[in-house]
Amino acid sequence: MASGEFVLETEGLSKEFKGFFAVRDVSLRVRKGDIHALIGPNGAGKTTVFNLLTKFLTPTAGRILYKGEEITKTGPADIARKGMVRSFQISAVFPHLSLLENVRIALQRELGTSFHFWKSDDSLSALNDRAMALLEAVGLTEFRNHTAGDLPYGRKRALEIAMALACEPRLLLLDEPTAGMTHEDIVRITDLIGRVSENRTVLMVEHNLSVVSNLSNVITVLQRGEILAEGPYEEVSKMPEVISAYLGT
Ligand code: ADP
Repeated sequence: MASGEFVLETEGLSKEFKGFFAVRDVSLRVRKGDIHALIGPNGAGKTTVFNLLTKFLTPTAGRILYKGEEITKTGPADIARKGMVRSFQISAVFPHLSLLENVRIALQRELGTSFHFWKSDDSLSALNDRAMALLEAVGLTEFRNHTAGDLPYGRKRALEIAMALACEPRLLLLDEPTAGMTHEDIVRITDLIGRVSENRTVLMVEHNLSVVSNLSNVITVLQRGEILAEGPYEEVSKMPEVISAYLGT
């Protein structure tokens, strides 16, 4: 293992809640450069796996490795610093500030700099330029002076991607990127994820199978907390056990 080919690996990952296994013995491998989707019917354990990977939950058994290094007990801030960044935490957005201010704050957090560093005109303008470039990358330039709290839902999620990109992730983790979106927003965010994945790895939990089939080259299907199938969407989606898991038969 730890060949460098896999950015993220889990070994026998489990989460037990009072005798009930929400996740059981999950060994996942996310290959560098892939858009890897974690799918499965309701209650399959997707959110629990995601929360284990992003350190919102602690596993009851198993290991997590990032670029071959064990991170099972590493905190969320430390894994973000290593390049593994979770997007879509609405709470991370400051609703009363503009989009530009939000992205500038995300950049300052990433740089770990004090305001003193940025007080020269040159560095402030460099910070502004980087923030503008990130807003442009996610298609939000025209909204830069809007208050984040006033943005429609789909645009807010694009802002969260911009803020995650400020951390320069090598592995971007997305939790249901299209949940609750209009068709138009889904088309826009699918295109955006495709573009941001060009030079990084993406692991996403996603319900919408047409988004999954459009974006991901590998999928892992979970059922009752365990891996049911894994591989390219075209192959896995034809497997009788996967079809029956989705039909609940
Ligand atoms: P999914 O995201 O695939 O819908 P979840 O990971 O949310 O599935 O849940 C998997 C299973 O674990 C479900 O049966 C759920 O009820 C259970 N579960 C999740 N969180 C908890 C918890 N904190 N306590 C007890 N059971 C939980």
